[in-house]
Amino acid sequence: MFSNIPFNRVNWFTSGFLIVTFLTAVIGTPLYFFHFGFDPFLIVLFVAYFIATGMSITLGYHRLFAHKAFKASKPVKLFTLIFGAAAFEDSALDWASDHREHHKHVDHEDDDPYAISKGFFWAHMGWIFFKLYPRELTNVNDLRKDPLVMWQHKHHQIIGVLAGLVAPALIGAAYNGWVGLLGGFLIGGIARLVAVQHCTFFINSLCHTIGNRPYDASTSARDSWIMAIFTFGEGYHNYHHSFQHDYRNGVKSWQWDPTKWAIWSLNKLGLAEDLRRVPEEKIVLAELRETHRLAEEQLVKTKQWNISCPDYKAAMRTLSEMSEKLGEGYSELEQAVSDRVDLSREKISYWREQVAETVEQLSVMDRLQPAMA
Ligand SMILES: [Zn+2]
Ligand SMILES: [Zn+2]
Repeated sequence: MFSNIPFNRVNWFTSGFLIVTFLTAVIGTPLYFFHFGFDPFLIVLFVAYFIATGMSITLGYHRLFAHKAFKASKPVKLFTLIFGAAAFEDSALDWASDHREHHKHVDHEDDDPYAISKGFFWAHMGWIFFKLYPRELTNVNDLRKDPLVMWQHKHHQIIGVLAGLVAPALIGAAYNGWVGLLGGFLIGGIARLVAVQHCTFFINSLCHTIGNRPYDASTSARDSWIMAIFTFGEGYHNYHHSFQHDYRNGVKSWQWDPTKWAIWSLNKLGLAEDLRRVPEEKIVLAELRETHRLAEEQLVKTKQWNISCPDYKAAMRTLSEMSEKLGEGYSELEQAVSDRVDLSREKISYWREQVAETVEQLSVMDRLQPAMA
């Protein structure tokens, strides 16, 4: 059963930490509440710590350090470095290095550290069991120039223990003595870090498995609003892999992306600047290209079936017209993007609507299809 596991390359310390914390959380939490009774204070502590450490990963480790999607003031950097360490996901420097490799080589088994093609569990957390140190970290020279990043890189384990385990235990003790200390350590510390870690891991596993691909179907990364809820907005992963330097992952105004809102708020407070946004034209262009490709693919496929049903023939004709229109729009938008011409809001909205209508038409054909095929 375990014959294909290279035991000589297992990082036993990290693996032990992941397993022991997981078991402590799932067994210890119900036992604690059963023994000492339910205490809402510990839930508040858990949620506050979950947000502080989870957002330090998404806003700090991910969008600020790995992608440089905006510039942050020292207090923001310091906060995300301290509470990021408390999530126990390695140092920001190390995390950013892996993540940049992931984007550069996504879906290539040999170079993408958490390639989904190596299986769901590998992408989720299996890869961490085999992460050995010291590592070269050649793709983060820009971050090496930041003294705060280097300070955290050197001391992230002790910072993590103090901020992520000792501090919640002390908060619990101040609230309710020894029982509170144990509860703070277990619920605010261990259970919370396990929850944050798995939410991060989901981005590499589920966000490369469930959802749709409106911007680029050539990558395994997917957009999923359900995943966005668990990951502070990181669930719009197809957009993110298409435009990794945008500070937004949920780029549409209605998409759930608390990390985007936090960065925007920090900017308004003067704590963040140079927020990078991909121009609307480029985003619509990507949606248009992908939808056009899907429509053409569907037309080629169904033409071969030689279906005589009049409803289906009419639906195909409509799709064919829409696809032709998208093809024309693509050339126009591509020209505008290469000439760096700003298109009017009306124009952009018009193409958005055309894309949405074509997507709808494709799903109409999908519904008709089972009876016809
Ligand atoms: Zn990814
Ligand atoms: Zn990323």
